[in-house]
Amino acid sequence: MPSDEGTEKSVSWHRKLEESEARTKRGHSVSKYEVVIIGGGPAGLTAGLYASRAGLRSLLLEKGIPGGQIVNARQVENYPGFSEGISGAELGQFMHRQAAKYGLETVPIEATRVSTGHLYEVSTPQGNIQTESIIIATGSEYRKLGVNGEKRLSGRGVSYCATCDGFFFRDRQVAVVGGGDTAITDALELSQHANKVYVIHRRDQLRATKALQERVSSQPKIELVWDTVVAEIVGDNMLTNLNLRNVKTGQSSNLEVDGLFVAVGLKPNSHIFSHLVTVDEAGFIMTDELMRTSTPGIFAAGDIRHNSFRQAITAAGDGAAAASSAFTYLYQ
Ligand code: NAP
Repeated sequence: MPSDEGTEKSVSWHRKLEESEARTKRGHSVSKYEVVIIGGGPAGLTAGLYASRAGLRSLLLEKGIPGGQIVNARQVENYPGFSEGISGAELGQFMHRQAAKYGLETVPIEATRVSTGHLYEVSTPQGNIQTESIIIATGSEYRKLGVNGEKRLSGRGVSYCATCDGFFFRDRQVAVVGGGDTAITDALELSQHANKVYVIHRRDQLRATKALQERVSSQPKIELVWDTVVAEIVGDNMLTNLNLRNVKTGQSSNLEVDGLFVAVGLKPNSHIFSHLVTVDEAGFIMTDELMRTSTPGIFAAGDIRHNSFRQAITAAGDGAAAASSAFTYLYQ
């Protein structure tokens, strides 16, 4: 991977051109792209920045707006370099603009299939793209409860990210659904802002690690509501209350809250790759520390990875590492 230093950069470039010419002389067809990045969140955009700065012919496919999930964050306060915070949408635009400046091509389209052959082939509704390597940066989606009112009141009291939205519930009453590490971490974080936090869990035992369970039991603002599910989320313009149902007794109850944080797990966007790379039992892609998957030439970065830290800054770091590894794969 070329560095900022002029000499190193020209040496790498020179080697890259020689290699490319040699491949053509050997009669190998050279695909239009050396790397196709699938997914345009912080991981994909940073991979695009590093790959295009390294001189790789790079294409990024993103079905939505560049920035990924971060565009939904009103204010990002923990991305280094922005001491006053920055809106997620603006951070996404900055990342995109920076990568485009170095030659990253971006197409607003969904990748629907990936197949292997002499080159990798990425299918889209508008045709197939051949590439020598792939960086998967498709992230994950929050699992939904699938109950009445959830979709309509999303962003109107219903949230999937306590780190992003918890601050808006200062001195309010909120609930968290789930019993895993995320739900308990969210409840602890929310207890710093809200004056009351209910944790609604469908069983009578938490899945979260013991250390988190101990912390939650010693936080007086947090109350655990066992064996209970949210049956309906109620409110006209904003969330006002929850209809709850005890799964053991069948009894219904009403809970007034200003906010509901849904923390029932994540769904990886990996279904089009699971025949090509090794995934864990939940579908997250296994990589080594260089972002290499089980298939040479295919890399993964960001929230799609097994054990990802799920923060924009770590996703960006993964993207940089994945692009460096793609460069090494192609030219060393
Ligand atoms: P998770 O471990 O899969 O937990 C999801 C929770 O939601 C479970 O308690 C589950 O209940 C509940 N749930 C699932 N579907 C539901 C539904 N439809 N209605 C109500 N409840 C439902 O997910 P996670 O907490 O997001 O954690 C994901 C991974 O990230 C885990 O490996 C976790 O350890 C890791 N993580 C680590 C940290 C950390 O600080 N180290 C922080 C966050 C996440 P059941 O228990 O009954 O299945």
